[in-house]
Amino acid sequence: GNSVLEITGLRVDYQTAHGGLPAVRGVDLTLRRGEVLGIAGESGSGKSTLAFAVTRLLRAPGEVVGGSVKYFGRAKDGTPVPPLDVLSASQAQLRRYRWEETAVVFQAAMNSLNPVLTVRTQLEDTIRAHRPTMAAADREDRVGELLELVGIDRSRLGSYPHQLSGGQRQRVMIAMALALDPAVVIMDEPTTSLDVVVQRDIIRCIMDLRTRLDSSFIFITHDLSLLLEIADRIAVMYAGELVELGDAAQIQHQPRHPYTRRLLLSFPVLRGPRRKLAAIDGAAPNLRSIPTGCAFHTRCPLATDICAQQDPPLLALVDQPGQDTTHNATGDPRRVACHHVDETLQLRPVDALIQE
Ligand code: SF4
Ligand code: MG
Repeated sequence: GNSVLEITGLRVDYQTAHGGLPAVRGVDLTLRRGEVLGIAGESGSGKSTLAFAVTRLLRAPGEVVGGSVKYFGRAKDGTPVPPLDVLSASQAQLRRYRWEETAVVFQAAMNSLNPVLTVRTQLEDTIRAHRPTMAAADREDRVGELLELVGIDRSRLGSYPHQLSGGQRQRVMIAMALALDPAVVIMDEPTTSLDVVVQRDIIRCIMDLRTRLDSSFIFITHDLSLLLEIADRIAVMYAGELVELGDAAQIQHQPRHPYTRRLLLSFPVLRGPRRKLAAIDGAAPNLRSIPTGCAFHTRCPLATDICAQQDPPLLALVDQPGQDTTHNATGDPRRVACHHVDETLQLRPVDALIQE
């Protein structure tokens, strides 16, 4: 009853003349009501494709080739309604699902504002399209409320996009996504093209929103250090698969997958200016040639023969007294896909490496 979205065994291929290239290779993931779930991974790891698939925004040549996505909605009075099977939903169901149940903010979304329309007009148009019978006065109220929700004074309603800063424009896009009070807000690299100061501004805005709204958030980014600040739980993707899933604090202080360690070391979280410590050795795999076995074995310092032969399943960690908290605040077991997960406990703590 606590889940909003349940993704099971999801597989997405990009179809080519030479057959399908696997972009998402069997992902199981649940979004809880009210949480911020972070999805981290390098570009090409499948994280955006996953977001497109769960919102049914995937376009050819992308194609869902397996698995299911269930959305657990609630009626206005809060009572549960039958789950929506997203992947087989009708166009009418999808229209509602896309704006009223889930909303997406993409990277550089602020560039999709219409330059010749005011902020008020664009927000009103979004509402009018889905609530055609709403009275004009109520609509007017709602757009002012939305703008203030994202920290912009309602006196800016008459502004055109070019009269706003980049950060304000991105916040207007977030307001647009929130217009119909969706249960799920998916943000795909919402801060990536922005400078550091504006990034902080957007992050603050999102953290503020989560305390004021009942929505659940999926926040997708290549920058794991950013997720450590805002996410409750973090899922790490590599070559189309989940390799680690846990509480943000667990991921930060005791990452258990070798790839998670590398991601943490490449974007250390620091109070003060960020510095990039080390790029990850080697390139992320091309969809055309995903390595056999564990896809990370070509870059992994712990790899052995079995790693090249068998793809390790994502398994719940077993409690090891005094070593690791395998259960997070929600009682979820932490999950890791690695043949040598026990050995990762012997590695130098990432915290110590970052401080050097
Ligand atoms: Fe490294 Fe092997 Fe674990 Fe993959 S399964 S992360 S190659 S140790
Ligand atoms: Mg992406």
